[in-house]
Amino acid sequence: MPHLKTFEKSREKSCSVMAERNKIPLFKHLQNDGIVFMPLNENQEKALSNLNTKLQTGEYQTTPLPCLCGSNDDILIASKDRYGLSLDTSLCMNCGLMRSDPYLDEKTLSLFYRDDYRDIYIPAIVEKRREVNLIFRDEYIAGQSIKNFIGDMSHCKTIFEIGCGAGGTLAFFNSLGMTTVGCDYGRAYVEFGLEQGLDIRLGGISQLLELQKGGIRADIVILHHVLEHFRDPVAEINKIAALLSEKGHLFIALPGIFSMRKYYGSLLPFLQNAHVWHFCLKSLDFLMEACGFRQRIGSELIYALYYKIQEDDLKKDWRPRHNVGNDILKYLTNIEKIRWLPTARYLIRKLLPQRTMDV
Ligand SMILES: [Zn+2]
Repeated sequence: MPHLKTFEKSREKSCSVMAERNKIPLFKHLQNDGIVFMPLNENQEKALSNLNTKLQTGEYQTTPLPCLCGSNDDILIASKDRYGLSLDTSLCMNCGLMRSDPYLDEKTLSLFYRDDYRDIYIPAIVEKRREVNLIFRDEYIAGQSIKNFIGDMSHCKTIFEIGCGAGGTLAFFNSLGMTTVGCDYGRAYVEFGLEQGLDIRLGGISQLLELQKGGIRADIVILHHVLEHFRDPVAEINKIAALLSEKGHLFIALPGIFSMRKYYGSLLPFLQNAHVWHFCLKSLDFLMEACGFRQRIGSELIYALYYKIQEDDLKKDWRPRHNVGNDILKYLTNIEKIRWLPTARYLIRKLLPQRTMDV
């Protein structure tokens, strides 16, 4: 494949040039210049300014985040995000995982989600009951999409959802006669869900591990736009494995790299400081297999369903089986070349009145 060889050579050249210039990203128009790409309202601007101050004064700390595969064959592809925040995004050419590195440490992350995240990422003031109601409705529709994707769920009796928001998705599965339990850190969401008669716990996975200790396990655990926020996804997936019944499945939805053009137009709108890891279906499979899971069905959206590998088949190694890094690099290079029109379309959509959560 001559085209690929040319591409390889240009990559090597780019890498050496990059090293010489000390952290100039592969896509030079994504160098950190502090310019905000997203249309922001006054509240968002204020929240973003507060976050920047905390980062610059050292109140918020970042630490290096090496690739999960242990390789350092990285390419720095961008050094800013769509909010104009300084954010280095690296692509591991060994395994194809893309990540924010360095990234907020665990202590900072909990402060970020408590004090900053909502005001920056959710333009509406969701504490207003009306807005939570709209979020609940969108979550309910997401539940229908998940059901359509999975297909036959006649064997499913119990569903857990981590980061369930106001619980609309759980309400959908309740309507099918299933038992559901969720957890979320957003107090306003949890209170709304409780008012709807749902079993939602304030907090994270540890809230659901309490159920597991009591002998209650899930046939399906849902991670809907959550996995990409974990700094240590391996640790979190291992906890989730303990929540599942013997033949249980883990459903994952997240923004897939190969659907970037369709949903975001180009790389910059896709990059956001709340996302630590970025996946295509193959790199997600790679992570999941290293955690003891195998894909049942999946799409590049990403919607994917995983089951636990039996101990006999378990090979928890980190050897990638595909040249995913090159495929991703090629895709990103192509969409960045023709980014103007798709990106403009994305911006226009954002400028139209928004109902609920940002993506
Ligand atoms: Zn890697």
